[in-house]
Amino acid sequence: MAADFRILAQDAGSQARAGVLTVAHGEIRTPAFVPLATKGSVRGLTPQEVRDLGFDMVLGNTFHLHLDPGDDLIARQGGLHRFMRWDGPIITDSGGFQVFSMGHGTVADEIKGRAPNGPSRSGRVLSIEEDGVRYRGYTDGRERFMAPETSMEIQGNLASDIALVFDECTPFHVSREYTARSTERTHRWLDRCLTWHDEHGPEGQIVYGIVQGGVYEDLRIESAQAVAASACDGIAIGGSLGAEKAQMYEVVRWTTEVLPAHKPRHLLGIGEIDDLVAGIGHGIDTFDCAMPTRLGRHGMALIPDPDRRWRVDITAGALKDSDEPLMEGCPCPACAIGWSRGYLRYMAKNRELTAMRMLTVHNLAFVQRTVARLRDAIISGTFDRAAAEILAGVAP
Ligand SMILES: [Zn+2]
Repeated sequence: MAADFRILAQDAGSQARAGVLTVAHGEIRTPAFVPLATKGSVRGLTPQEVRDLGFDMVLGNTFHLHLDPGDDLIARQGGLHRFMRWDGPIITDSGGFQVFSMGHGTVADEIKGRAPNGPSRSGRVLSIEEDGVRYRGYTDGRERFMAPETSMEIQGNLASDIALVFDECTPFHVSREYTARSTERTHRWLDRCLTWHDEHGPEGQIVYGIVQGGVYEDLRIESAQAVAASACDGIAIGGSLGAEKAQMYEVVRWTTEVLPAHKPRHLLGIGEIDDLVAGIGHGIDTFDCAMPTRLGRHGMALIPDPDRRWRVDITAGALKDSDEPLMEGCPCPACAIGWSRGYLRYMAKNRELTAMRMLTVHNLAFVQRTVARLRDAIISGTFDRAAAEILAGVAP
């Protein structure tokens, strides 16, 4: 099944476009933010709550679900949709990012913008071979092997709507030579994934290739052209996008400029408010990111304040006595309750589940409104203005 992607509007002043991507379990209105259901659940929320917030698709994690509870168990339960009772579209990542994060040490922290020397992982990569990756799983310490075909087989068992090919996620700190060799191997793995999927992939599942190439313009362009020339249905952009935002946007621009317009594009692991604005402007259709849900669990709320990276730490001592609402005028179900910042702080400080849940709802709603507003603006020909307003701190 080829991807059914209709572009409804193309912005005149940028690469931004609005469309509808139709997959086996329904439609995704693009541009779209895709909340993480890493271990088969958008943490703290029911599937209906995720749907009610306006999201069309969620992202499941191949690597984690393979280790626990096991993709064979999920297959016996009728696939990931039925297992988690989410009947909308699901995209699964390939597991490449997680496997290689264990090998490259700080790559995950680096790509996600976290400080190095984060929590150590008990799992680790034993060797990277042409055939695949040998690693030790973090759940049981058992030695395992993941080949491109293994990743596709797991995603077949999960029966996601969109599978991602297995790639090596090259970090920022490796050499250009390593990045070049690794990117070439990723292209050979792309061919193996597509060959496997052609013969064994579940009916209705489409496949995205992944562009690598690090921060090198020629490698990124070469990779984008190689992936675009393959039989993949859509294209994801992965790997290290640079040390700072300007470089990240440049890497995305190099890539989308040479991609064919008719294939949907996904930007992996990116979703800060300013990154969404820039990414959409460069022609990205879908995004996934841990940010809104992770921030919520750590007592942080998104607010329209660019100077503070659109966030407020609700656990701050200064809010102890605050009777202010979390965000003035916010139409989300969490803010509708009417809790003060002071009460939310008190709950968040005590790790009260309700607080983490409601901050997650608020953050996801904020991101959803931001993306929906930009989508509407593309369709009505006012993307420029809407993007400028969001970057200036106008509430979505
Ligand atoms: Zn709210």
